[in-house]
Amino acid sequence: MPQIDKFTLESHYDSLGISTISIMPDTSRPKATVQFIHGLCGCKERFIPAMEYLCSHGFACIAHDHRGHGESIFAPEDIGYMYKGGWKSLTDDMKTVSEWALSKNPGIPIIMIGHSMGALATKVFIRDNGLMLSGAVLCGLPSYSPFAPIGKLMTDGMCKAGAGKLHISLLQEITSGIYNIRFRKEGHQAWTCSDPNERERFRANPVCNFKMTASCASCVTGLMLQAYSPVKTQTCNPSLEIMLLSGEDDPCSGSPAKLQKTAARMAAEGYGNVHCRTYPSKRHELLNGQGFTGVLDDIIRFMSPIVSDSLSLRQKFTYMNENTLNMHNKEEYPPMHTAEHILNATMVKMFGCPRSRNAHIERKKSKCDYILNQCPTPQQVCEIENAVNRIIENALDVTAELMPRAEAESIADLGKLPEHASDTLRIVRIGDYDTCACIGAHVNNTSEIGKFTILSHDYTDGRWRVRWKVLA
Ligand SMILES: [Zn+2]
Repeated sequence: MPQIDKFTLESHYDSLGISTISIMPDTSRPKATVQFIHGLCGCKERFIPAMEYLCSHGFACIAHDHRGHGESIFAPEDIGYMYKGGWKSLTDDMKTVSEWALSKNPGIPIIMIGHSMGALATKVFIRDNGLMLSGAVLCGLPSYSPFAPIGKLMTDGMCKAGAGKLHISLLQEITSGIYNIRFRKEGHQAWTCSDPNERERFRANPVCNFKMTASCASCVTGLMLQAYSPVKTQTCNPSLEIMLLSGEDDPCSGSPAKLQKTAARMAAEGYGNVHCRTYPSKRHELLNGQGFTGVLDDIIRFMSPIVSDSLSLRQKFTYMNENTLNMHNKEEYPPMHTAEHILNATMVKMFGCPRSRNAHIERKKSKCDYILNQCPTPQQVCEIENAVNRIIENALDVTAELMPRAEAESIADLGKLPEHASDTLRIVRIGDYDTCACIGAHVNNTSEIGKFTILSHDYTDGRWRVRWKVLA
């Protein structure tokens, strides 16, 4: 595993040293830089397991301590005090780190992952600096608290009166206490994470879990008001890819219904690509504790279409999906969908027929229709199954890139594109076996698909319908 480097960047706001760690994969060109943004009372080191995991998948990773957190302090007794400048100085520091990443890896896209307060900060960051990024993942984004305006007013008053360093643990206790009601039998702060070992690690971390100050509360409430402002949230980057993640038992971020509401809100703010995912029986923490690599695998899948071509993603374009336009917000199961590509390519090669025009791809079982002169023989059906499984077993890389339509025409069959498809297309390749225009979510390698099995098939009026599944 590559080494974690540690260094200090200077805040433009007040010259505070922003303590930062980074890890670079053993490759000349990382797929993307992932910038982690921690939550209240957190620190950059908590992301190290996640950073190492993403690094092993080809991503450069970077994380810093927010001001007043971890090692981004002028003096040890300042821990929990965020100095002056409120939310603006905090998001300015994030920008300083993004700028460093862009200078270190020019031309490589940045994807920001924020947890909790870090998700609020990320939501504000993308409003103001969204063009610097290609994607953003908001984990455990706190839902709006009706107490934020009064909290902001009170803590601003305290800061102005020179009491910014005053610890206001009561406010913290009340908030955490309300969140913890459902989980109180499991102990203090059980709401934060369903994994008790991870809760213990957090509690035992000397730089985490401190008592917050008035300046800290002013900053958090400021971020919340900015993130949910009815007038200030219009995005500067409508094509930014957004993923909202939440534990279904997270009292801070909320239920799947609450998450859908946030997604709808972000769509109204101008974001065209908002994806949601919730995790049953998970609480506030998703990037730490038991099962965190499963969450990271979902994030890797989300990132894969973004990372394939960084620079052109900044340009406005419309995707074209193979079967359905605008799959956004629809749960898609990448192994199934990728198998559909392979099946299509196999049918084209074996029978010279067009790709399936009427496919229904579901997680458990799918069906595709092909136009054929006659029903395939049992032996041919067996051959189809074997051919698809050979490609799966060959562990071919699945890649995506954006290209001008004129260029795409020479390498892929674009016969199915509707008239309004844009001039820039997303071309998905499965090794050298298949090439087509598609917006969907795919696995990174065919070896992730599992065994392809044909369940049943029938033939009527020149249409062969095949029902199939994949088994991991
Ligand atoms: Zn596809």
